[in-house]
Amino acid sequence: MPTLTLEEAWTQFLDFIQDHISAAEFQNWFSPIGVLKATEDELLLSVPNIFVREYISDNYKKELATFFPCDEGGNPLIRFVVEEVKREKKVETPAVAPTPSLSQDDQRRAMKLNTTYTFNTFIEGPSNQFVKSAALGVASRPGKSYNPLFIHGGVGLGKTHLLHSIGHYAQEHHKNLRVQCITTESFINELVDSLRNKSIDKLKRYFRNLDVLLVDDIQFLQSRMNFEDEFCHMFETLINQNKQIVITSDKPPGQLKLSERLIARMEWGLVAKMGVPDLETRVAILQHKAESKGLKLTNSVAFFIAEHIFNNVRQLEGAINRLSAYAGLMNLEVTEDVAEKTLSEMFQFVPQKRITVEGILKSVASMFNVRVSDLRGNSRSKEIAFPRQVAMYLAKELINESLVKLASSFGGKTHSTLLHSWNKIRTQMKDDDLLRRQIQMTKQNLEA
Ligand code: ADP
Ligand code: MG
Repeated sequence: MPTLTLEEAWTQFLDFIQDHISAAEFQNWFSPIGVLKATEDELLLSVPNIFVREYISDNYKKELATFFPCDEGGNPLIRFVVEEVKREKKVETPAVAPTPSLSQDDQRRAMKLNTTYTFNTFIEGPSNQFVKSAALGVASRPGKSYNPLFIHGGVGLGKTHLLHSIGHYAQEHHKNLRVQCITTESFINELVDSLRNKSIDKLKRYFRNLDVLLVDDIQFLQSRMNFEDEFCHMFETLINQNKQIVITSDKPPGQLKLSERLIARMEWGLVAKMGVPDLETRVAILQHKAESKGLKLTNSVAFFIAEHIFNNVRQLEGAINRLSAYAGLMNLEVTEDVAEKTLSEMFQFVPQKRITVEGILKSVASMFNVRVSDLRGNSRSKEIAFPRQVAMYLAKELINESLVKLASSFGGKTHSTLLHSWNKIRTQMKDDDLLRRQIQMTKQNLEA
């Protein structure tokens, strides 16, 4: 097809792929790709993260080569550029009712997947985007991308949620595969039981015949020597047959007190960290959880909560549960006050007095012996302009608001004036002890 442009070739490739994979897979891997530029020799495509790039290059090289002309090295004339993603709108993939054709044993175990832990209910942000892509990658093509996938991160950050999402997804999309999710504790318990019942061979056979094994909280294997060996054998048997393994842990493999051999095995594939979600993601999670509880939550209240609960998603969820119970019971609208009253003991530090531009102007005015109205005015005399700059510096430091909005509270200044003042004071503070002390005192005054 010599007359086809590279861009047309891409469209045809997408049409072809769309017919060959599930809608959800297509949404997740191909929809986010955009054409940046097409020349005669190269097609530039934008991808949201390296993982999408790797995934496409690893899994669709052959197909790409049939749709695109290749260079001497046999590589299709395509280049991927990783672009910052805009916060992704959640894609509503139609829920597929799971119709697993499992044995009774499998069914009993499969029940352990939490039905609400799916990719659809997992809120993405910069802290977890990579690990989510990796999870989706292994769920889409078990045993064919990264093996094992090792997910680690702090408590309550969504590791189990993601692990179960892989389970659901793999079960829905690969009905003939045997998928098993197990906590390390229950793995050990099953081993103990089977030793007692002399049914260890049956259990081993069961595990070794799985296609996807999801193991939660591997840190509990530490200092359980006998079980560690058993686990290591099972692990190797599965991996050698290209069966997918996913492991979660509260620490990276190297920090686990396990045998070097097992640690090395766990580092074979992809080790991905689940980070602490940033403010915006926490707000999105709160909104999502509130919505699913039928709780009305304004953006400002969501921000207020997210500012005070910041390193544990489970606690964000707890906050919503508590708020929704309280607000429902008392028939109250959820305001910042209500949130503070209901949740203050969950907050990671007692909420500070809300600092306002008004408060800053008052404190600065009294510190520098000028009038608030002067600070808001336009006088350029040094006695006024300097404290005004200090006030602007403090406003930017202490108030979580857009620069435009802050600046406008200073009698309609522009955001670049505010930024300039902030920069100037910040620099000057470095070698001006007096100024540093004045600012320190004003701050204490404000926070008292
Ligand atoms: P971990 O296993 O890392 O301790 P969990 O997976 O149990 O954490 O998550 C704790 C709670 O927070 C769960 O109810 C989970 O649904 C929720 N959660 C965590 N991360 C997210 C997220 N990104 N989006 C939506 N819910 C999340
Ligand atoms: Mg967990």
